[in-house]
Amino acid sequence: MIIKEFISETNRNQVISILLKHYKVESVKVKTKSMKGHAHFNVDTGTLELSTRYKTIKTSQVKSFLITILHEINHAMDAKTFGWKKFKEMYEMEMNLQVTNDKDPYEDNKYEIQAEKFGQSMWKYWKTKFKKDGLM
Ligand SMILES: [Zn+2]
Repeated sequence: MIIKEFISETNRNQVISILLKHYKVESVKVKTKSMKGHAHFNVDTGTLELSTRYKTIKTSQVKSFLITILHEINHAMDAKTFGWKKFKEMYEMEMNLQVTNDKDPYEDNKYEIQAEKFGQSMWKYWKTKFKKDGLM
């Protein structure tokens, strides 16, 4: 029996591309870079920046990887729906609103809460599917 400890970079890239296509944000570019957080959707360039910690994914990282990707995809979906300029404005307004209310501009941000909910509710479905398809 072969126990997969790592997901190959090819499979990782395929997983990302399937997700982008499924959520109709296939124009999003993905790039790996060294960063503090897990990922960041750069609304100006339409680039999903992914931490180098996900260059090769260990099986123990699958959950956080999928939640992270789905979270950023949710931002990309909003950027597509509203147009990136408008979405950036909306996002900044929301940050200002939270700060005005003595809340955290990210933790209490409705777009962040929505994106996190999306990731949390969908990752298991995708993990099962990708496992079945031999990608994980
Ligand atoms: Zn976010």
